Amino acid sequence: MAEKKQFQAESKRLLDLMINSIYTHKEIFLRELISNASDAIDKLYYRSLTENLSDVDRNDLEISIEKAEDAKTLTITDNGIGMNKEELEENLGTIAKSGSLAFKEKMAEAEKQDEDVDIIGQFGVGFYSAFMVAKAVDVYSRKYGETQAYHWSSDASDGYVIEPCEYEGHGTKIVLTLKDDSEEEKYSEYLSTFEIERLISKYSDYIRYPIKMEVEESVLKEGSEDEYETKKVIKTLNSMVPLWKRNKKDITDEEYNEFYKNKFNDYVDPMKVIHTNVEGTISYTALLYIPGKTPYNFYSQEYEKGLQLYSRGVFIMDKASELVPEYFRFVKGLVDSQDLSLNISREMLQHDRQLKAIASRIEKKIKSELLHMLKNDREQYEKFWENFGLQLKYGVYNDYGMHKDVLSDLLMFYSSKEKKLITLDEYVERMKEGQEHIYYVSGETLDKIDQLPQCEVVKDKGYEILYLMDNVDEFCLQMLMNYKEKTFKNISQGDLNLESEEEKKALSDAAEENKALLEDLKEALTNKVSEVRISARLKQHPVCLTAAEGMSFEMEKVLESMPD
Ligand code: ADP
Ligand code: MG
Repeated sequence: MAEKKQFQAESKRLLDLMINSIYTHKEIFLRELISNASDAIDKLYYRSLTENLSDVDRNDLEISIEKAEDAKTLTITDNGIGMNKEELEENLGTIAKSGSLAFKEKMAEAEKQDEDVDIIGQFGVGFYSAFMVAKAVDVYSRKYGETQAYHWSSDASDGYVIEPCEYEGHGTKIVLTLKDDSEEEKYSEYLSTFEIERLISKYSDYIRYPIKMEVEESVLKEGSEDEYETKKVIKTLNSMVPLWKRNKKDITDEEYNEFYKNKFNDYVDPMKVIHTNVEGTISYTALLYIPGKTPYNFYSQEYEKGLQLYSRGVFIMDKASELVPEYFRFVKGLVDSQDLSLNISREMLQHDRQLKAIASRIEKKIKSELLHMLKNDREQYEKFWENFGLQLKYGVYNDYGMHKDVLSDLLMFYSSKEKKLITLDEYVERMKEGQEHIYYVSGETLDKIDQLPQCEVVKDKGYEILYLMDNVDEFCLQMLMNYKEKTFKNISQGDLNLESEEEKKALSDAAEENKALLEDLKEALTNKVSEVRISARLKQHPVCLTAAEGMSFEMEKVLESMPD
């Protein structure tokens, strides 16, 4: 008898959640198992093409579903890559990466807030979802190229057992022994042909390998014209057309959203779907998504940008980072092109001309979609800005401003006029006649900035001021240098030259009269200030500090706070 192993603590928690789930869409377990089966076939098929495996034929690759009413089992089999002992242990005994990890975070959050967790199924929770409907799960698997097969089993109590077994061919067979029916829940429903067909067409229609099942069909008796008989036939339940290959106008928002959440492990709908089909010197289809919320690890090193890459519908790799520029790293999605070599490796991606051409078009497409959103759906754009604006500002600042032209008209800042977000275009549009600079000032909050002594006079004279609150803002503007030929000017720095000739005269007269006083002040503040002046900057406030040209106070603060 093989030794029983315990699930990792976290896996155990997830498992408990699944077992006791009152989640109403338990049906998603089938989608999860089928998507794993499809991934496993993808991996094998990709190997067969790149390594010229002669014993793998695309036409044989499939997923099959079998049901046994008496035993109350539902079996999902794939002839994909399979798993060996270590992989069974690693993949099914612990919460794997991807989907499950994001779920784990969300679960912890929900627990803290004592929320009822109905987030299951809103995004990929993977293999464990089988335990929402099964009281026992048996996995039989043989890894392609290896001789020994293994049987993983768990009755969902506390652990699992792995032991050697017989298995013909390669791939994985998962047998679910369904829970007993109760008043509230009829698990045996999942054994009905009708229900299975409904679930496949709802969630797994686009899977690119046939999902087959034996069904009874009524067919004409041989030689007869009106007499029917029931026959068992093997039926393919999915259309096999990948979502991105379908006609845009036939795809519903819900299909786009479900596909996104399942494939890219998110639990909220995307805010924007970009589906484009390009034909010409280079042909490709791209299905891109802008997430509805900032991924929890977005501003950390852990976040990996990139798009899934397919060649003629064959999966090549996850997260090809060369396909999206750093400043659009929030974009998720996939690219399918017939012009890419299947043998392309990560190392080759950077040098592949086709890929570069696709990446540059994708960048333009994202940019134009964002501009379109900005012009036509301001509310949505501001939400986008809230989620990812910081990334765009970093984008301007990074690479010594190399990409500032792509980004400058997408930027937004708060302004003194209505204390709302405005674009640089909007600022320039309503500049006063003869105004040469775009004025800005930095501070912590809108209110604090608004009360700065420096702002008063500038606002009074009818000029608009950008209110900068993020650390990166000033660096971003310095990198831009100008926008539509208007240079940026910090109102708390250097000379503003906003005074009329008379005002200037009055100032110099006043300075002359108070010369002695100013000198005394300067002496009293030796080493603290470099100059004491009578200023035209002030109205109600008696004094203010200003920096000379060059580095502003705010920038100095940011630089000082940075680790060496
Ligand atoms: P995810 O699919 O997000 O990685 P899952 O919990 O669905 O998470 O699956 C965990 C892992 O188990 C997969 O990444 C894969 O390595 C492995 N796995 C699951 N089902 C199969 C299968 N049918 N064939 C081969 N490997 C599988
Ligand atoms: Mg999965």
